[in-house]
Amino acid sequence: MVIVDQSSCVSCGMCVVSCPIGAVDLVDNGTDTFVAKIDSAVCGICGVCIDRCPAKAISIQINKKNNETNVETEMTQMTEAG
Ligand code: SF4
Ligand code: SF4
Repeated sequence: MVIVDQSSCVSCGMCVVSCPIGAVDLVDNGTDTFVAKIDSAVCGICGVCIDRCPAKAISIQINKKNNETNVETEMTQMTEAG
């Protein structure tokens, strides 16, 4: 998934305007500071916002836990199939 390091975000809005599918918004982080937030359910992981962010605050995070879960599921299915 694509994540924002909110402590590095400078609220420029470049990711919001560059995202082709509108998956990013600037939201109040609770301290009257607006930071980028990516809707991971919508994000297509195209990487455009990562390139455009002047603060290098956006990155792709590999979800190892999910990968392990997927491997386990596949192995269980293979075992059950004999
Ligand atoms: S990776 Fe692409 S789709 Fe996802 S938030 Fe960034 S620009 Fe939008
Ligand atoms: S482009 Fe980077 S610095 Fe600008 S709002 Fe988005 S995450 Fe924050």
